[in-house]
Formats: sequence, C-alpha cells, structure tokens
Amino acid sequence: MEKDRPNPLIIAGPCALETQEQFYSTVHSIYNYTDIIRVGVWKARTSPKNYPGIGHKGLPWIQSVQKKYKTPVAIEIGTPQHVEFALKYDVRFFWLGARTTVNPFYVQEIAESLRGVSVEVWVKNPIFADVKLWTGAIERLKRVGLKNIKIIHRGFHSEKKMIYRNNPKWSLVNAFRRNHPSIPVICDPSHIAGNKKHIYELARRACGQRVDGLMIEVHNSPSNALSDSAQQLSPKEFKQLLARLKYAS
Ligand code: PEP
Ligand code: MN
Repeated sequence: MEKDRPNPLIIAGPCALETQEQFYSTVHSIYNYTDIIRVGVWKARTSPKNYPGIGHKGLPWIQSVQKKYKTPVAIEIGTPQHVEFALKYDVRFFWLGARTTVNPFYVQEIAESLRGVSVEVWVKNPIFADVKLWTGAIERLKRVGLKNIKIIHRGFHSEKKMIYRNNPKWSLVNAFRRNHPSIPVICDPSHIAGNKKHIYELARRACGQRVDGLMIEVHNSPSNALSDSAQQLSPKEFKQLLARLKYAS
C-alpha cells in the first residue's frame, strides 16, 4: 500500500521505548504512514530522576519490528557501547542527541566506533545555538568516512519565555543550510514545540521551507508516556497531522 503522507521523509515513533507492548502497539498503528520508525532506547535525560530508557534489553524488540514491518528503526546513540549493542541487533540508523553534539570527546569516540561501518547518522543541533559545535560534529563523522549524514533541527534553548519549548531560530538553520547545501535537513517539530498543540504549525512551516524530513514523536498512549508526554501525538493525531500537511502542500 502506498504510504499516505506528504513529500518529506517521515520518521515517527515514541520518544522512548518503555515496554514491548507500548512499542509494538505504536509501531503497528503507524508503520504504514512512516518511512522510518524512531525510538529512544537510552535516554539522555537532564535529571537522573527522569526515565533513562529501557537500555539494550529493548534491542531484540527493535530487531523483530524491523523484520516484521520491513521498516528501519532509528535510535539515539551516546557512547561507543551503544553503537556496539545496536549493530549486533541490525540497527543501521542512528542520531546524536542535542546533549551529545555539544561534546567533542563523545562525538569523536562515537565516530571512531562507526569507522568502516555502513550506517546513516543524523546530528541534532546542540542545545545552545553554537553552530560551530554542530559543524564540528559533522566533520568528525565525515573524517571517519561516513557518507550518509543528515542534520536534525530540534530548536535551541532560550532564556526568554516562549510559546515553544525550544526556539526554532529558522534564520540560523537556513544559514546553516546555505553553507552545507549537500546535507539533508530533518525538522523535529516535537522537540521544538514541547506541546502537541504547536506541532502542526511548526511542521507546516518546515514543509514550506522544503526540509527533507520530519521527525515526529508518536506514542500509543501519550498521557501515560514516561518522557515528553505533552508533545507526543497519538497514532490517530499523527495520521491527522499527515493528512493536514498533505492537503496543505
Ligand atoms: C529525543 O529525540 O527524544 C531527544 C531527547 O531529543 P533531543 O536530543 O533533541 O533533546
Ligand atoms: Mn523526546
């Protein structure tokens, strides 16, 4: 069946892998509407009191989802050990989180662990609007020979009170795109918004700017989510979002 969605690459799935049931049920509802499934296995949380993710125990579930639905799953990696585990379970799409991109030591170690491996890596913008750290992370990945690199725009921390959780700073991202025209851009309206009510307007703006992909958080029961509960869409809301974007474009 043809995927019923707008033009950009669609990446959707839960913020975090919580249980087998939560993951399977979410994937089952959305696999036909997304090109790639996203899920956090290890969560880089600001506070140690927050849900840290299921860890490597969740990887066999990811492996079986990839097989069953013939759809790749992308996960966040933050250490070379994460890479080692993930490769064992056939995960080939990775992203560096906003808290990892800021750390050149980690990025370098992760890059080394990916040398000679055929994978795709997406680099989220650093939490603060330091574009040089973003560029530096990409250069480190390129230096080990990685060819398939994309960036993720997830907004920037701001001291000012805003309607969004993170400031999109579109002009900064567009300047980045002009300087790196060959690097595809994925917009993550979920982490810019921080609340589901703003996701459509942000996704629409991103589509208007011809981004190459959209990454959207979707959970089978958002109000019970263990992380980012306010910004995750239910599968039904996600399908409605795609339909609205399709007819708006
Ligand atoms: C995430 O993708 O769930 C996440 C934690 O994102 P970020 O690194 O953008 O905060
Ligand atoms: Mn999240």
